[in-house]
Amino acid sequence: MSNEAFASDVPLACQSSPCEDTIEVLESRVATVGERLTIRRALPLAKRRMIGAWCFLDHFGPHEFNAREQGMWVGAHPHIGLQTVTWLFDGAVLHRDSLGTVARIEPGGLNVMTAGHGISHTEESPSDHEGKLHGLQLWVALPEASRDGSAEFQHVAELPKVERAGMNATVFAGQGLGVTSAAKMHTPILGAEVKLSAAGTHQVPLAPEFEHGVVVSDGRVRVNGRWVGVGELLYLKPGRRELILETEGPARFGLVGGEPFPEPILLWWNFVGRSHEEIVEARNAWLAGLENTDQRFGEVHGFEGDRLDIPELHGRLVAR
Ligand code: MN
Repeated sequence: MSNEAFASDVPLACQSSPCEDTIEVLESRVATVGERLTIRRALPLAKRRMIGAWCFLDHFGPHEFNAREQGMWVGAHPHIGLQTVTWLFDGAVLHRDSLGTVARIEPGGLNVMTAGHGISHTEESPSDHEGKLHGLQLWVALPEASRDGSAEFQHVAELPKVERAGMNATVFAGQGLGVTSAAKMHTPILGAEVKLSAAGTHQVPLAPEFEHGVVVSDGRVRVNGRWVGVGELLYLKPGRRELILETEGPARFGLVGGEPFPEPILLWWNFVGRSHEEIVEARNAWLAGLENTDQRFGEVHGFEGDRLDIPELHGRLVAR
C-alpha cells in the first residue's frame, strides 16, 4: 500500500484487501480499580489479547474527586515479566516501588517500570492533589531475552512531540511519526498521545510492519465511515502506512502499535510468564512476603495502606 493510493476525500483506503478484513472495532470492558476508580479495559479482550507487545491497556477516568475523597489508591502488589507504562491526560499519580523509587507523574511525563524477575509497587493520588484523574495504564510483555532481568524504574520528563496542521502528538514509548522516545523498551513498539484540534480530516502515518490500536479518550473519530468513541478499541492489522480519521470537533486518543508479539504469553493477575510453574513460583514468593529468602518482590516504603492479596489459582494455566 502506498501513500499515492489515497484520495483526500476517502476516509480510509485499502488497496489490497477489503477494509473490513483489516479493521476491527471492539468494545472495552468496564472494571473498577481500587475502591472507586472506573476504568475501561481495552486489552486484553477475548477477541484481541495483544497489540504488538502491549498486553494490557486501561483507560481510567476522567474521574473527579475532592480533598476528602481518594482518587487512585492501589496498595503494594508485585509484577513479573512486564513493563508498566503510565501516561496521564489529567491529574497526578505518586508511584513508590521496592527499588526505593518515589516518583510523581503528571501530564507530559512518563513512568516506565520494568519488572523483569520481580518488583512491587504502589500507586496513589498525591495528598496535595485533588481534581481530575484521567489517563492510560499499559503493560508491555517483555520478550524472552529480558523478561527475567533486573527490575528498573525510569521517569522520562522530555518526550518528542510532533506538530502538524490540526494535529499534535507526543510519542511516549518506542518509535513512530518520525520520532523516538527515550523510554527504554525491549521490542519494536509505539505508544503515543494524539490530539486533533478541530473538525476535519486528519492523517496519521503508521509503520506498516506494526499492528495498531486506537483508544479514544475525548471526543470521537470516524474511521472508514464508522464512528469510534470512548470505550471502544479500534484495531488495525499490519500493512498500513497511514490512518485517516475524520472529526467533528476536537478529539484525543492513545495510539499503540508494535510488531506482532511472536511468543505465547501467560497473563495471570499482575504477572506475565510462560508456564504454570513460573506463575505458581511468583505467587508463592508474594505469599511468603518478606520471609521469602530471595526477597523477590522486596518492600515498598511510605504507602499508608495494605499490600494486595493475591487471588487463588484455579486449574492449570496455559500460555497462548
Ligand atoms: Mn501495578
